[in-house]
Amino acid sequence: MRWSKAPSTQYPVPSSHRKAGYWLLATGYWVLLAGVTLLSAAPSAAPSADEKHISVYAPVASYTLPVLDRAGREYVGLLELLEPLGRVSSESNGRWLKLRYNAIDAEFVAGKTRARIRGHDFDFATPFLIENSRGMVPLSSLSALLPRFLGTPVNFRESARRLFIGDVGIQTSFRLDAGNSPRLQLNFSAAVNPTISTEPGQLRMVFKRDPVVSPGSQSISFDNKVITHASYSENNGDAELDVAASEPLMASFSNDRKTIIVSAVQQTPAPPSAVATGSQNPAQVRPAANIASSNNNDVHRILVAVDPAHGGDERGAALTDTLAEKNVTLGFARLLRHELENRGFAVALLRDADTSLTLDQRAAAANVARAGIYISLHAVSQGSGARVYTALLPVEGASNGVFHAWNAAQAPALPVSRIVSAAIVAEMQKREFPVRASSASLRPLNNVLMPAVAVELAPGDDGVADLISANYQQRAASAIADAVVSVRDRLGVQP
Ligand SMILES: [Zn+2]
Repeated sequence: MRWSKAPSTQYPVPSSHRKAGYWLLATGYWVLLAGVTLLSAAPSAAPSADEKHISVYAPVASYTLPVLDRAGREYVGLLELLEPLGRVSSESNGRWLKLRYNAIDAEFVAGKTRARIRGHDFDFATPFLIENSRGMVPLSSLSALLPRFLGTPVNFRESARRLFIGDVGIQTSFRLDAGNSPRLQLNFSAAVNPTISTEPGQLRMVFKRDPVVSPGSQSISFDNKVITHASYSENNGDAELDVAASEPLMASFSNDRKTIIVSAVQQTPAPPSAVATGSQNPAQVRPAANIASSNNNDVHRILVAVDPAHGGDERGAALTDTLAEKNVTLGFARLLRHELENRGFAVALLRDADTSLTLDQRAAAANVARAGIYISLHAVSQGSGARVYTALLPVEGASNGVFHAWNAAQAPALPVSRIVSAAIVAEMQKREFPVRASSASLRPLNNVLMPAVAVELAPGDDGVADLISANYQQRAASAIADAVVSVRDRLGVQP
């Protein structure tokens, strides 16, 4: 758990200057978003629940293959890699592998770093492997290995696991039409088919099969109050473009899917050309349609900010020799998101990857998103069941005339926070889940403007294994979600 205590220094903010305070929080929020996208682009040594992939983009095909970890190195199947690109035949006895790609012969030996390709030696930095007659090559060798077969250079962006063969990169350019209802036009040099999703403050486009390349800089700022900036990142075979805004956004396609128009939800969704394209292929236009409708609902939905504690370099408690708290809290947060969404809430995970966030960034993200409720998640290896915390505010920090201490931002919401805590306790007891309520001087609960609780998950009858048991987490998550439903009338959106 390792709570960080509230610092003793107080920063009183006169209520007439609250806007300035919000501005600072907003700055923290955008930093946070940039941090999430940029940090997730960095290769991570930490175990991840998500499968690793490599994406290959070639003039003849774009495809994604699983990446396997062997002895701390990343490998991909050699035949799977070559088959979409040409004619491949192979023969193996489990110890060696003979392969023909088009007219090129090659021979590899299991556990060896030297191979023969087209009559020449080829040296790997990491041994070639054969598993079940399947040859596997280290990703670190691909930039040197593939040109031997293909006869053309390749561009392998290894940290993002994206491999470009030939001149296939899709260029992106931006054009912002300012005005009362600003529109951001993203023009691509070829048709694209991203997965599009929205969350408070941003619209996210993930390109799995499209060889979209960086638009030059990782982050582009717009001189606009509504659509503020866009950022590019790439990770695990995907490229991602995020557009940040102060209002809910939607996206629509036009120009045969070479243009995506991003606009605030209130305005006309799409030019007629986009609708016409979509009607020819309803499956492809579905993302844009979904966003429009879900955002219209979101306007009246309560937003739950779910905060998986710790992350990145900050691992939290060591629950076992190999299990870090930061991974348990993330898995638990994703389950809770699912339970809450099933009950009609909008949910923002403050991190959805193994990224570092400061406590101030977490509070700022919840405050700026104007969440109706904030739920922080922790895990411990001691004790049993769960403990639910509400903030214990510093005495001198309580509301004090026109001054309002940052460390007591929670004060006005605290009575409702206690109601939420009691509701979670009641729902857990219904499920015979041992549970206790406490208050503690802990951050960032103190700094959050809306009703806020922290839930610390402890093992059940099966010990620490419960902490990663989907069944155990599920019981806790559905109890929390039912509790939020029971108090939903008390959770106003912040003014
Ligand atoms: Zn913790």
